[in-house]
Amino acid sequence: MSEYKAPIRDMQFVMKELAGLAEVAKLPGCEEVSADLVDQILEENAKFSGAVLAPLNKSADEEGSTWNNGAVTTPKGFKEAYKQFTEGGWNALQAPTEFGGQDLPKLVSTPVVEMWKSANLSFSLCPMLTAGSIEAVLLRGSEEQKRLFLPKMVEGTWTGTMNLTEPQAGSDLALIKTRALRQSDGSYRIHGQKIFITYGEHDFTENIIHMVLARTPEAPEGVKGISLFIVPKFLVNQDGSLGARNDVKCASLEHKLGIHASPTAVMIYGEKEGAVGYLVGEENRGLEYMFIMMNAARFAVGLEGVAIAERAYQHALAYAKERVQSRDLAGGGKAVPIIRHPDVRRMLMSMKAQTEAMRALIYVVAAAMDKARRAPDKEERMRNHAFVDLMIPVVKGWSTETGIEIASTGIQVHGGMGFIEETGAAQYLRDARITTIYEGTTGIQSNDLVGRKIAREGGATLKVVLQIMKGVETELGRAPGDDFAAIRSRLAAGVKTLADSADWIVATYAGDIKAVHAGAVPFLMLMGHVCGGWLMARAALIAQKQLDGGTQDKLFYEAKIKTARFYADHILSKAPGLGESVMRGAAGVMALAEEQF
Ligand SMILES: Cc1cc2nc3c(=O)[nH]c(=O)nc-3n(C[C@H](O)[C@H](O)[C@H](O)COP(=O)(O)OP(=O)(O)OC[C@H]3O[C@@H](n4cnc5c(N)ncnc54)[C@H](O)[C@@H]3O)c2cc1C
Repeated sequence: MSEYKAPIRDMQFVMKELAGLAEVAKLPGCEEVSADLVDQILEENAKFSGAVLAPLNKSADEEGSTWNNGAVTTPKGFKEAYKQFTEGGWNALQAPTEFGGQDLPKLVSTPVVEMWKSANLSFSLCPMLTAGSIEAVLLRGSEEQKRLFLPKMVEGTWTGTMNLTEPQAGSDLALIKTRALRQSDGSYRIHGQKIFITYGEHDFTENIIHMVLARTPEAPEGVKGISLFIVPKFLVNQDGSLGARNDVKCASLEHKLGIHASPTAVMIYGEKEGAVGYLVGEENRGLEYMFIMMNAARFAVGLEGVAIAERAYQHALAYAKERVQSRDLAGGGKAVPIIRHPDVRRMLMSMKAQTEAMRALIYVVAAAMDKARRAPDKEERMRNHAFVDLMIPVVKGWSTETGIEIASTGIQVHGGMGFIEETGAAQYLRDARITTIYEGTTGIQSNDLVGRKIAREGGATLKVVLQIMKGVETELGRAPGDDFAAIRSRLAAGVKTLADSADWIVATYAGDIKAVHAGAVPFLMLMGHVCGGWLMARAALIAQKQLDGGTQDKLFYEAKIKTARFYADHILSKAPGLGESVMRGAAGVMALAEEQF
């Protein structure tokens, strides 16, 4: 029951017909990306994810990673899977060719990573953190640091970690206390404790390269006094061979609600003489570097929302086809598979429609990331950059919140069996639960959205997107039938609510910032709902064209239109209510005095 079959058909549709793979393939550096090559990569990765990663998901959850005297053992099969993963070249997919990577466009690597995350979220976190660390070294590392660390990290011989969080510093990294003392040889000695460090210790590889945020003694207070350091578990000699063990250790692993197989480590730096660290870039600019990398990291976690939703949907769908219970409402007779009952259909459709909507937005943003990085025209790069910046908190916040909702609905489809661990549906909900927390909680994403992305620029980028959405509205008016009329009217209401809410935020921000922040999460969800509706509507229009042209894949395209209709009536229809919470909900949020709680 817990098999995973990659949704290749939908992935291909979104990549090729919605997100513009052909355009991305024309960008400099992407010339070798043909539709055939992409199909091959997806097929191969689907095999690997389905046959190697997915079967370990449940057993690894049950076993968990274990700690013994500083060493961490990952669950049975994980180490071997990691070996296959790196030998297959999967780790190198996103890294630059200069250091042994394949530098695939984001639009191509995104479905690949989605599959790993659907198949086995805990496993996928190790390469995700390594990719983040590679990016940090690439971004501001010296030539020497790049030469020493990147080739091995790209091939996956060494993994990477991100060490931001401390007991007193989570959302607010200004509170970081870990110290870094400069040495006469230019290196630093690091002292401090980091908590919640994903894959901070494990048995996959011979070395782990920790990226650590710390303060030098004379650093200014707050966010402007934080620097970024490379702290290897084993020091690395000039010829790339491993040297002495560094003064860093894993003190314990956390016991968690989900992602049991992913070791979440408490890390102690400098218990003795101090852990040797190497400054990345300049002192006091660590957090600034982290901000530059943030889009990629938040995007990657946003992808976890759709990945878990897809897996939960597949599981629930299989169960709904098998489980026989109650007679058909209209047909009478014997008990039927529960998929025939309207409420179960509603649940399955809400899982399917929202998963497709999230995938659509995430892949469209991936294509924009490619254009922002590679388009020859500066204007086009800037336009896409602005779009990506605006959408990242939505991709992260809306997708992960929706992923949790979908995993929960998946349990509901199973009835009592969903609550029983043996079925496997519960694991998706437990695993999904972290995704709205790490890499910035939904609250933090929504602050970023309303403050930096909307108010600060007077809603300028969003206005451009709203215009594009209105264009789709007009096209919907020309499409035939009730489905398109319903989609159009819901989209029009959603777009208007989003526009009004954004105007309200811009107008209110300076005078009553708390009122705006009181509605920040509803605004983020509103934007997610409407963006999803916009892209589902576009998908429906494309599908209609295919049907008009006599496509061979009639069932797929018909389903796209019907799914968009469902999304409009059941999900997009919530937009006006969310707008109410944004524009008129603040009074209730802040009304009580603290002693009234
Ligand atoms: C399993 C797991 C893996 C992790 N992996 C890593 C890792 O690899 N590396 C790493 O460095 N960290 C990691 N983290 C830490 C994670 O990023 C933090 O837990 C997260 O950023 C939230 O910080 P916090 O836990 O201190 O919560 P807090 O910051 O204390 O937040 C508590 C609540 O207050 C809200 N809040 C706080 N500030 C604001 C604000 N300004 N406005 C509105 N609401 C606010 C939050 O939204 C939240 O609801 C991991 C955590 C877990 C549980």
